[in-house]
Amino acid sequence: MFKALLLEQQDGVTCSRIAELDDGALPERDVLVAVAYSSLNYKDGLAITGKGPIVRQFPMVPGIDLAGTVLSSRDPRFVPGQSVFSTGWSVGEQYWGGMAQQACLDGDWLQSLPVGLTARQVMQIGTAGLTAMLCVMALEEGGVSPEQGEVIVTGASGGVGSLAVSLLAQLDYKVVAVTGRAENHDYLLALGACRVLARDTFATPAKPLEKQLWAGAIDTTGSHLLAHLLAQTRYNGTVAACGLAAGSDLPTSVMPFILRNVRLQGVDSVMCPLERRNEAWRRLAELLPASFYSQACHEVDLQGAIAAAEAITCGQITGRVLVACQ
Ligand code: NDP
Repeated sequence: MFKALLLEQQDGVTCSRIAELDDGALPERDVLVAVAYSSLNYKDGLAITGKGPIVRQFPMVPGIDLAGTVLSSRDPRFVPGQSVFSTGWSVGEQYWGGMAQQACLDGDWLQSLPVGLTARQVMQIGTAGLTAMLCVMALEEGGVSPEQGEVIVTGASGGVGSLAVSLLAQLDYKVVAVTGRAENHDYLLALGACRVLARDTFATPAKPLEKQLWAGAIDTTGSHLLAHLLAQTRYNGTVAACGLAAGSDLPTSVMPFILRNVRLQGVDSVMCPLERRNEAWRRLAELLPASFYSQACHEVDLQGAIAAAEAITCGQITGRVLVACQ
């Protein structure tokens, strides 16, 4: 028997509970993993609360991230006792995920732990951290360098935002953090932001072009905030867009692209190819300071993940939530 956070649907409403499941309940796949930790991402919040159409079939074990130890494997790449982790690949959406004491996965979805990181640290980083690192790499590939000026990060006190602020600061960028929560200013400065802007600064609709302020931007929010960032990005700048916390619309014009050579780079972590993931994880292990894990992460158990899921969908979580599964 093992414990799992189980999502079921009754009359179109998603219900969550901690269930004791028989080993035979796990879907048959090649690698059986004893899960030590999962983590809570915005998408997990939508899945657990049923506020977004994330789960493709019920019953479902949520958790797009997991880290643990191989118990048995029919895949020659993995052996019992090996430490592994997984992020994305539709796990926790289409396939049973990480918020359980055991998970059974395809070998293609698993990676060995990055050198220098523990299973706990890998889940403190999780999909949010991978996404933040991919955004930073997108800025670098767009030619944005620290001496060009300030880089702005929206949704800064969330998971992706906190990691983006921390990573950019470690790379010597001058980071401007945008938050809707005045009480998080000191937190964001401690992560490495050089200044903090209130989200209200962007309350009015964006004009096609505004004063050129940013060498680059990482946007986790979409909608009018992203429209402002595009209008304010300096000539030749790059905006990496990965999220929709404010909405999936984008009320903008082509002006920043055709008059200022601005590049809008989409970022996806779910289907990101293995080679690029490995590079991103290598850099995460190298860049994140020890202080990140103490400043930006807190831990809940499987039961606690249910309340945290509601909170993340309301924009009330600061930093990252680690989910202890055993
Ligand atoms: P979090 O909830 O941790 O962070 C989102 C942050 O956005 C909040 O903390 C809040 O920060 C801000 N925010 C919340 N509501 C609003 C709003 N209505 N308008 C503007 N800002 C708002 O989520 P994650 O960090 O896990 O994810 C962030 C986004 O990135 C999500 O949309 C998620 O779906 C997306 N994502 C995409 C991935 C990809 O592969 N493309 C992977 C992972 C995440 P503050 O209070 O500081 O303003």
